[in-house]
Amino acid sequence: MHLYFSNAKRLTPIACWYNLSMTNAPFTYELLATDATTGARAGVFHTPHGDIPTPMFMPVGTQATVKALDPDDLHAMPAPVILSNTYHLALRPGPEVIAQAGGLHRFMAWDGAILTDSGGFQVFSLGPQRTVDDDGVTFRSLHDGSIHRFTPERVIEIEEMLGADIIMPLDECLALPATADDLRRALDRTHRWLERAVAAKRRPDQALFGIVQGGTDPALRREGARFVGSLGLPGVALGGLSVGEDKPSMYATVATTTPHCPADRPRYLMGVGSPEDLWECVARGIDLFDCVLPARVARHGGLYTPAGRVSIKGAKWRDHHAPLDPTCDCATCRRFTAAYLHHLHRVGELLWHRLATTHNLHFILRQMRVMRAAILDGTFADKLGAFREAYRPASTERAAAQRAKFAQQRGG
Ligand SMILES: [Zn+2]
Repeated sequence: MHLYFSNAKRLTPIACWYNLSMTNAPFTYELLATDATTGARAGVFHTPHGDIPTPMFMPVGTQATVKALDPDDLHAMPAPVILSNTYHLALRPGPEVIAQAGGLHRFMAWDGAILTDSGGFQVFSLGPQRTVDDDGVTFRSLHDGSIHRFTPERVIEIEEMLGADIIMPLDECLALPATADDLRRALDRTHRWLERAVAAKRRPDQALFGIVQGGTDPALRREGARFVGSLGLPGVALGGLSVGEDKPSMYATVATTTPHCPADRPRYLMGVGSPEDLWECVARGIDLFDCVLPARVARHGGLYTPAGRVSIKGAKWRDHHAPLDPTCDCATCRRFTAAYLHHLHRVGELLWHRLATTHNLHFILRQMRVMRAAILDGTFADKLGAFREAYRPASTERAAAQRAKFAQQRGG
Protein backbone atom coordinates (compact mmCIF):
# COMPACT_ATOMS: atom_id res chain seq x y z
CA MET A 1 0.00 0.00 0.00
CA HIS A 2 2.76 2.50 0.91
CA LEU A 3 4.59 1.80 -2.31
CA TYR A 4 1.38 2.24 -4.25
CA PHE A 5 0.54 5.60 -2.69
CA SER A 6 4.05 6.98 -3.19
CA ASN A 7 3.82 5.98 -6.85
CA ALA A 8 0.34 7.41 -7.21
CA LYS A 9 1.49 10.89 -6.22
CA ARG A 10 3.52 11.16 -9.41
CA LEU A 11 0.63 10.19 -11.68
CA THR A 12 -1.83 12.46 -13.40
CA PRO A 13 -5.38 12.33 -11.93
CA ILE A 14 -6.64 10.17 -14.80
CA ALA A 15 -3.75 7.73 -14.54
CA CYS A 16 -4.20 7.69 -10.77
CA TRP A 17 -7.87 6.72 -11.16
CA TYR A 18 -6.90 4.00 -13.59
CA ASN A 19 -4.24 2.79 -11.20
CA LEU A 20 -6.81 2.65 -8.39
CA SER A 21 -9.04 0.33 -10.32
CA MET A 22 -6.14 -1.85 -11.46
CA THR A 23 -4.82 -2.37 -7.93
CA ASN A 24 -8.28 -3.23 -6.54
CA ALA A 25 -8.05 -0.32 -4.07
CA PRO A 26 -9.91 0.47 -1.84
CA PHE A 27 -10.28 -3.30 -1.38
CA THR A 28 -7.41 -5.00 0.41
CA TYR A 29 -7.19 -8.30 2.22
CA GLU A 30 -4.88 -8.80 5.18
CA LEU A 31 -4.07 -12.39 6.06
CA LEU A 32 -3.43 -12.33 9.81
CA ALA A 33 -2.96 -16.02 10.64
CA THR A 34 -3.05 -19.45 9.07
CA ASP A 35 -3.76 -22.45 11.28
CA ALA A 36 -0.80 -24.81 11.62
CA THR A 37 -2.68 -28.09 11.21
CA THR A 38 -5.66 -27.20 8.99
CA GLY A 39 -6.17 -24.76 6.11
CA ALA A 40 -8.08 -22.28 8.32
CA ARG A 41 -7.23 -18.58 7.88
CA ALA A 42 -8.03 -15.41 9.82
CA GLY A 43 -7.90 -12.04 8.11
CA VAL A 44 -9.61 -8.74 7.36
CA PHE A 45 -11.14 -7.62 4.07
CA HIS A 46 -11.29 -3.81 3.86
CA THR A 47 -14.21 -2.29 1.92
CA PRO A 48 -15.59 1.25 1.48
CA HIS A 49 -18.42 0.25 3.85
CA GLY A 50 -16.30 -1.13 6.65
CA ASP A 51 -13.91 -3.92 7.48
CA ILE A 52 -15.00 -7.54 7.21
CA PRO A 53 -13.20 -9.78 9.72
CA THR A 54 -12.77 -13.22 8.16
CA PRO A 55 -13.84 -15.97 8.29
CA MET A 56 -17.28 -14.38 7.98
CA PHE A 57 -20.84 -15.41 7.13
CA MET A 58 -23.03 -13.03 5.08
CA PRO A 59 -26.77 -13.07 5.91
CA VAL A 60 -28.86 -13.09 2.72
CA GLY A 61 -31.15 -10.16 1.94
CA THR A 62 -32.67 -11.42 -1.29
CA GLN A 63 -35.18 -8.62 -1.83
CA ALA A 64 -33.01 -5.84 -0.32
CA THR A 65 -34.00 -6.99 3.17
CA VAL A 66 -32.83 -9.80 5.43
CA LYS A 67 -36.28 -11.23 5.99
CA ALA A 68 -37.90 -10.13 9.29
CA LEU A 69 -34.93 -7.97 10.35
CA ASP A 70 -34.03 -4.30 9.99
CA PRO A 71 -30.51 -2.82 9.78
CA ASP A 72 -30.35 -2.16 13.55
CA ASP A 73 -30.98 -5.88 14.21
CA LEU A 74 -28.11 -6.75 11.86
CA HIS A 75 -25.72 -4.23 13.41
CA ALA A 76 -26.54 -5.59 16.88
CA MET A 77 -25.31 -9.10 15.93
CA PRO A 78 -22.97 -7.68 14.46
CA ALA A 79 -23.17 -8.55 10.74
CA PRO A 80 -20.61 -6.45 8.83
CA VAL A 81 -21.70 -7.60 5.36
CA ILE A 82 -24.88 -8.92 3.78
CA LEU A 83 -25.69 -10.40 0.37
CA SER A 84 -28.43 -9.33 -2.00
CA ASN A 85 -29.65 -10.89 -5.25
CA THR A 86 -29.18 -9.18 -8.60
CA TYR A 87 -31.75 -11.44 -10.27
CA HIS A 88 -34.56 -10.54 -7.87
CA LEU A 89 -33.73 -6.82 -7.73
CA ALA A 90 -33.39 -6.64 -11.53
CA LEU A 91 -36.99 -7.84 -11.85
CA ARG A 92 -38.44 -5.94 -8.90
CA PRO A 93 -38.13 -2.99 -8.31
CA GLY A 94 -35.69 -2.77 -11.26
CA PRO A 95 -32.15 -1.35 -11.10
CA GLU A 96 -33.29 2.11 -12.25
CA VAL A 97 -35.40 2.58 -9.12
CA ILE A 98 -32.50 1.62 -6.87
CA ALA A 99 -30.09 3.86 -8.80
CA GLN A 100 -32.55 6.77 -8.40
CA ALA A 101 -32.59 6.10 -4.65
CA GLY A 102 -28.80 6.57 -4.61
CA GLY A 103 -27.92 2.88 -4.69
CA LEU A 104 -28.76 -0.20 -2.68
CA HIS A 105 -27.14 1.02 0.57
CA ARG A 106 -29.39 4.08 0.67
CA PHE A 107 -32.44 2.28 -0.68
CA MET A 108 -32.40 -0.23 2.20
CA ALA A 109 -30.78 2.12 4.78
CA TRP A 110 -27.84 -0.22 5.32
CA ASP A 111 -24.41 1.35 5.83
CA GLY A 112 -22.48 -1.91 6.14
CA ALA A 113 -20.93 -3.76 3.22
CA ILE A 114 -23.04 -5.50 0.55
CA LEU A 115 -22.25 -8.24 -1.95
CA THR A 116 -24.54 -8.79 -4.91
CA ASP A 117 -24.54 -12.16 -6.67
CA SER A 118 -24.86 -12.19 -10.46
CA GLY A 119 -28.24 -13.85 -10.70
CA GLY A 120 -26.61 -16.75 -12.55
CA PHE A 121 -27.57 -19.31 -9.92
CA GLN A 122 -31.23 -18.23 -9.89
CA VAL A 123 -31.45 -18.06 -13.69
CA PHE A 124 -29.89 -21.49 -14.15
CA SER A 125 -32.29 -22.87 -11.51
CA LEU A 126 -35.20 -21.91 -13.78
CA GLY A 127 -34.74 -25.07 -15.92
CA PRO A 128 -36.99 -24.98 -19.01
CA GLN A 129 -37.80 -21.32 -18.33
CA ARG A 130 -34.37 -20.29 -19.69
CA THR A 131 -32.06 -20.88 -22.64
CA VAL A 132 -28.31 -20.41 -22.55
CA ASP A 133 -25.86 -19.69 -25.36
CA ASP A 134 -22.25 -18.50 -25.49
CA ASP A 135 -23.33 -14.87 -25.36
CA GLY A 136 -25.64 -15.07 -22.34
CA VAL A 137 -28.89 -16.47 -20.98
CA THR A 138 -32.52 -15.64 -21.79
CA PHE A 139 -35.22 -16.32 -19.24
CA ARG A 140 -38.84 -15.74 -18.46
CA SER A 141 -39.81 -13.80 -15.32
CA LEU A 142 -41.65 -15.90 -12.75
CA HIS A 143 -43.64 -12.80 -11.82
CA ASP A 144 -45.23 -11.74 -15.10
CA GLY A 145 -43.87 -14.05 -17.81
CA SER A 146 -41.85 -11.24 -19.42
CA ILE A 147 -38.65 -12.18 -21.29
CA HIS A 148 -35.27 -10.99 -19.97
CA ARG A 149 -31.69 -11.46 -21.09
CA PHE A 150 -28.55 -11.54 -18.94
CA THR A 151 -25.16 -11.20 -20.59
CA PRO A 152 -21.91 -10.70 -18.66
CA GLU A 153 -21.97 -7.01 -19.63
CA ARG A 154 -25.63 -6.48 -18.71
CA VAL A 155 -25.13 -8.08 -15.28
CA ILE A 156 -22.20 -5.76 -14.55
CA GLU A 157 -24.29 -2.80 -15.72
CA ILE A 158 -27.10 -3.77 -13.32
CA GLU A 159 -24.68 -4.36 -10.45
CA GLU A 160 -23.07 -0.96 -11.05
CA MET A 161 -26.54 0.60 -10.79
CA LEU A 162 -27.16 -1.29 -7.54
CA GLY A 163 -23.78 -0.20 -6.18
CA ALA A 164 -22.82 -3.07 -3.85
CA ASP A 165 -19.23 -3.21 -2.58
CA ILE A 166 -18.53 -6.71 -3.90
CA ILE A 167 -20.05 -7.83 -7.20
CA MET A 168 -20.13 -11.25 -8.85
CA PRO A 169 -19.87 -12.00 -12.59
CA LEU A 170 -22.39 -14.04 -14.57
CA ASP A 171 -21.33 -17.70 -14.52
CA GLU A 172 -22.82 -20.99 -15.66
CA CYS A 173 -23.81 -22.98 -12.59
CA LEU A 174 -24.77 -26.62 -13.23
CA ALA A 175 -26.77 -28.87 -10.92
CA LEU A 176 -24.85 -32.02 -9.93
CA PRO A 177 -24.38 -34.70 -11.06
CA ALA A 178 -23.38 -33.36 -14.50
CA THR A 179 -21.51 -34.99 -17.39
CA ALA A 180 -17.80 -34.34 -17.97
CA ASP A 181 -18.64 -32.58 -21.25
CA ASP A 182 -21.17 -30.29 -19.59
CA LEU A 183 -18.75 -29.42 -16.77
CA ARG A 184 -15.99 -28.60 -19.27
CA ARG A 185 -18.30 -26.43 -21.37
CA ALA A 186 -19.62 -24.58 -18.29
CA LEU A 187 -16.08 -23.98 -17.02
CA ASP A 188 -14.90 -22.55 -20.34
CA ARG A 189 -18.01 -20.43 -20.72
CA THR A 190 -17.66 -19.13 -17.15
CA HIS A 191 -14.08 -18.07 -17.93
CA ARG A 192 -15.01 -16.28 -21.16
CA TRP A 193 -17.86 -14.53 -19.34
CA LEU A 194 -15.50 -13.50 -16.53
CA GLU A 195 -13.12 -11.90 -19.05
CA ARG A 196 -16.05 -9.98 -20.52
CA ALA A 197 -17.21 -8.90 -17.04
CA VAL A 198 -13.71 -7.61 -16.24
CA ALA A 199 -13.68 -5.64 -19.51
CA ALA A 200 -17.17 -4.22 -18.86
CA LYS A 201 -16.59 -3.13 -15.27
CA ARG A 202 -16.21 0.65 -14.80
CA ARG A 203 -16.71 1.61 -11.15
CA PRO A 204 -13.46 1.61 -9.13
CA ASP A 205 -15.37 1.51 -5.82
CA GLN A 206 -16.63 -2.03 -6.43
CA ALA A 207 -14.67 -5.28 -6.14
CA LEU A 208 -15.38 -7.90 -8.81
CA PHE A 209 -14.66 -11.45 -7.64
CA GLY A 210 -14.06 -14.31 -10.08
CA ILE A 211 -16.01 -17.58 -9.80
CA VAL A 212 -14.43 -21.04 -9.99
CA GLN A 213 -16.70 -23.75 -11.44
CA GLY A 214 -15.84 -27.37 -12.31
CA GLY A 215 -18.28 -29.55 -10.38
CA THR A 216 -16.48 -32.07 -8.16
CA ASP A 217 -13.72 -32.72 -10.73
CA PRO A 218 -10.38 -31.87 -9.04
CA ALA A 219 -8.59 -31.14 -12.34
CA LEU A 220 -11.29 -28.71 -13.53
CA ARG A 221 -11.39 -27.01 -10.14
CA ARG A 222 -7.59 -26.57 -10.16
CA GLU A 223 -7.75 -25.15 -13.66
CA GLY A 224 -10.56 -22.80 -12.65
CA ALA A 225 -8.74 -21.57 -9.53
CA ARG A 226 -5.56 -20.91 -11.50
CA PHE A 227 -7.42 -19.09 -14.27
CA VAL A 228 -9.34 -16.84 -11.86
CA GLY A 229 -6.16 -16.28 -9.82
CA SER A 230 -4.28 -15.22 -12.95
CA LEU A 231 -6.63 -12.26 -13.48
CA GLY A 232 -5.52 -10.48 -10.29
CA LEU A 233 -9.08 -9.92 -9.03
CA PRO A 234 -9.60 -8.91 -5.37
CA GLY A 235 -11.33 -12.17 -4.44
CA VAL A 236 -12.02 -15.73 -5.62
CA ALA A 237 -15.37 -17.49 -5.23
CA LEU A 238 -16.13 -21.21 -5.38
CA GLY A 239 -19.49 -21.64 -7.11
CA GLY A 240 -21.45 -24.70 -8.16
CA LEU A 241 -21.29 -26.47 -4.79
CA SER A 242 -24.14 -27.50 -2.49
CA VAL A 243 -26.11 -28.17 -5.70
CA GLY A 244 -26.85 -31.88 -5.29
CA GLU A 245 -23.52 -33.49 -4.36
CA ASP A 246 -23.03 -35.18 -0.97
CA LYS A 247 -21.17 -33.42 1.81
CA PRO A 248 -17.94 -35.49 1.65
CA SER A 249 -17.66 -34.62 -2.08
CA MET A 250 -18.22 -30.95 -1.35
CA TYR A 251 -15.58 -30.91 1.40
CA ALA A 252 -13.11 -32.79 -0.82
CA THR A 253 -13.69 -30.33 -3.68
CA VAL A 254 -13.10 -27.34 -1.41
CA ALA A 255 -9.92 -28.98 -0.08
CA THR A 256 -8.53 -29.60 -3.57
CA THR A 257 -9.40 -26.08 -4.81
CA THR A 258 -8.26 -23.65 -2.11
CA PRO A 259 -4.52 -24.51 -2.32
CA HIS A 260 -4.65 -23.26 -5.94
CA CYS A 261 -6.31 -19.94 -5.03
CA PRO A 262 -4.11 -16.88 -4.37
CA ALA A 263 -3.20 -16.81 -0.65
CA ASP A 264 -3.47 -13.02 -0.52
CA ARG A 265 -7.13 -12.82 -1.63
CA PRO A 266 -10.31 -13.84 0.22
CA ARG A 267 -12.01 -17.09 -0.87
CA TYR A 268 -15.79 -17.13 -0.87
CA LEU A 269 -17.81 -20.36 -0.89
CA MET A 270 -21.18 -19.49 -2.43
CA GLY A 271 -24.48 -20.74 -1.03
CA VAL A 272 -23.09 -22.82 1.86
CA GLY A 273 -23.95 -22.10 5.49
CA SER A 274 -25.03 -24.91 7.82
CA PRO A 275 -23.01 -24.84 11.07
CA GLU A 276 -21.12 -28.04 10.22
CA ASP A 277 -20.36 -26.85 6.68
CA LEU A 278 -18.99 -23.57 8.01
CA TRP A 279 -16.59 -25.31 10.40
CA GLU A 280 -15.50 -27.92 7.88
CA CYS A 281 -14.97 -25.43 5.05
CA VAL A 282 -13.15 -22.85 7.20
CA ALA A 283 -10.84 -25.77 8.07
CA ARG A 284 -10.29 -26.18 4.31
CA GLY A 285 -9.34 -22.57 3.68
CA ILE A 286 -12.60 -20.67 3.03
CA ASP A 287 -12.99 -17.06 4.28
CA LEU A 288 -16.52 -15.96 3.24
CA PHE A 289 -19.89 -17.71 3.11
CA ASP A 290 -23.52 -16.90 2.40
CA CYS A 291 -26.65 -19.03 2.67
CA VAL A 292 -30.39 -18.59 3.06
CA LEU A 293 -30.49 -21.69 5.28
CA PRO A 294 -30.12 -20.24 8.83
CA ALA A 295 -32.88 -17.66 8.29
CA ARG A 296 -35.08 -20.05 6.31
CA VAL A 297 -35.00 -22.89 8.82
CA ALA A 298 -35.72 -20.32 11.53
CA ARG A 299 -38.93 -19.26 9.85
CA HIS A 300 -39.93 -22.93 9.62
CA GLY A 301 -39.35 -23.60 13.33
CA GLY A 302 -35.71 -24.83 13.36
CA LEU A 303 -33.36 -23.22 15.88
CA TYR A 304 -29.64 -23.87 16.31
CA THR A 305 -28.15 -24.89 19.64
CA PRO A 306 -24.57 -25.99 20.48
CA ALA A 307 -25.84 -29.61 20.36
CA GLY A 308 -27.58 -29.32 16.98
CA ARG A 309 -30.74 -27.96 15.42
CA VAL A 310 -34.00 -28.37 17.36
CA SER A 311 -37.61 -27.85 16.33
CA ILE A 312 -39.49 -25.33 18.44
CA LYS A 313 -42.66 -27.27 17.53
CA GLY A 314 -41.69 -30.05 19.97
CA ALA A 315 -44.09 -30.51 22.91
CA LYS A 316 -41.17 -30.44 25.33
CA TRP A 317 -40.79 -26.69 24.77
CA ARG A 318 -44.41 -25.92 25.74
CA ASP A 319 -43.56 -25.33 29.40
CA HIS A 320 -39.80 -24.79 29.13
CA HIS A 321 -39.64 -21.49 31.01
CA ALA A 322 -35.97 -20.80 30.31
CA PRO A 323 -34.03 -19.61 27.27
CA LEU A 324 -33.81 -22.16 24.45
CA ASP A 325 -30.01 -21.85 24.52
CA PRO A 326 -28.76 -20.60 27.92
CA THR A 327 -25.29 -19.99 26.42
CA CYS A 328 -26.67 -17.61 23.75
CA ASP A 329 -26.49 -13.86 24.34
CA CYS A 330 -28.68 -12.86 21.37
CA ALA A 331 -31.54 -10.37 21.71
CA THR A 332 -34.00 -13.29 21.65
CA CYS A 333 -32.42 -15.58 24.25
CA ARG A 334 -31.61 -12.68 26.60
CA ARG A 335 -35.29 -11.74 26.83
CA PHE A 336 -37.58 -14.64 25.91
CA THR A 337 -38.11 -18.23 27.01
CA ALA A 338 -38.42 -21.31 24.83
CA ALA A 339 -42.03 -21.67 26.05
CA TYR A 340 -42.83 -18.21 24.68
CA LEU A 341 -41.13 -18.96 21.34
CA HIS A 342 -43.05 -22.26 21.10
CA HIS A 343 -46.28 -20.36 21.69
CA LEU A 344 -45.50 -17.65 19.09
CA HIS A 345 -44.69 -20.26 16.46
CA ARG A 346 -47.74 -22.37 17.25
CA VAL A 347 -50.18 -19.50 16.90
CA GLY A 348 -48.41 -18.08 13.86
CA GLU A 349 -47.45 -14.71 15.32
CA LEU A 350 -45.29 -12.39 13.19
CA LEU A 351 -42.85 -11.77 16.04
CA TRP A 352 -41.75 -15.40 15.74
CA HIS A 353 -40.00 -14.66 12.44
CA ARG A 354 -37.95 -11.84 13.89
CA LEU A 355 -36.99 -13.60 17.13
CA ALA A 356 -36.11 -16.89 15.41
CA THR A 357 -34.12 -15.24 12.60
CA THR A 358 -32.26 -13.12 15.15
CA HIS A 359 -31.26 -16.19 17.14
CA ASN A 360 -30.11 -18.31 14.19
CA LEU A 361 -28.08 -15.58 12.49
CA HIS A 362 -26.56 -14.61 15.83
CA PHE A 363 -25.67 -18.28 16.43
CA ILE A 364 -23.98 -18.54 13.03
CA LEU A 365 -22.08 -15.26 13.41
CA ARG A 366 -20.94 -16.31 16.88
CA GLN A 367 -19.57 -19.54 15.36
CA MET A 368 -17.54 -17.38 12.96
CA ARG A 369 -16.15 -15.30 15.83
CA VAL A 370 -15.25 -18.43 17.79
CA MET A 371 -13.46 -19.86 14.75
CA ARG A 372 -11.60 -16.62 14.06
CA ALA A 373 -10.42 -16.27 17.67
CA ALA A 374 -9.29 -19.91 17.67
CA ILE A 375 -7.30 -19.44 14.44
CA LEU A 376 -5.63 -16.36 15.92
CA ASP A 377 -4.71 -18.06 19.18
CA GLY A 378 -3.65 -21.36 17.61
CA THR A 379 -6.46 -23.53 19.02
CA PHE A 380 -8.59 -24.01 15.89
CA ALA A 381 -7.97 -27.76 15.56
CA ASP A 382 -9.02 -28.32 19.19
CA LYS A 383 -12.13 -26.18 18.76
CA LEU A 384 -13.03 -28.01 15.53
CA GLY A 385 -12.74 -31.32 17.38
CA ALA A 386 -14.96 -30.00 20.17
CA PHE A 387 -17.55 -28.78 17.66
CA ARG A 388 -17.63 -32.15 15.86
CA GLU A 389 -18.05 -33.86 19.22
CA ALA A 390 -20.90 -31.65 20.41
CA TYR A 391 -22.88 -30.71 17.30
CA ARG A 392 -25.22 -33.22 15.70
CA PRO A 393 -26.00 -32.15 12.10
CA ALA A 394 -29.52 -32.49 10.71
CA SER A 395 -29.74 -35.90 9.01
CA THR A 396 -28.89 -36.10 5.33
CA GLU A 397 -32.35 -37.40 4.38
CA ARG A 398 -34.09 -34.69 6.28
CA ALA A 399 -31.83 -32.04 4.78
CA ALA A 400 -32.50 -33.41 1.26
CA ALA A 401 -36.25 -33.42 1.83
CA GLN A 402 -36.08 -29.85 3.06
CA ARG A 403 -34.02 -28.73 0.08
CA ALA A 404 -36.65 -30.19 -2.25
CA LYS A 405 -39.41 -28.44 -0.35
CA PHE A 406 -37.59 -25.11 -0.32
CA ALA A 407 -36.78 -25.40 -4.02
CA GLN A 408 -40.50 -25.10 -4.68
CA GLN A 409 -40.61 -21.82 -2.79
CA ARG A 410 -38.22 -19.83 -4.93
CA GLY A 411 -37.44 -16.32 -3.93
CA GLY A 412 -35.26 -16.82 -0.84
ZN1 LIG B 1 -30.18 -16.81 20.97
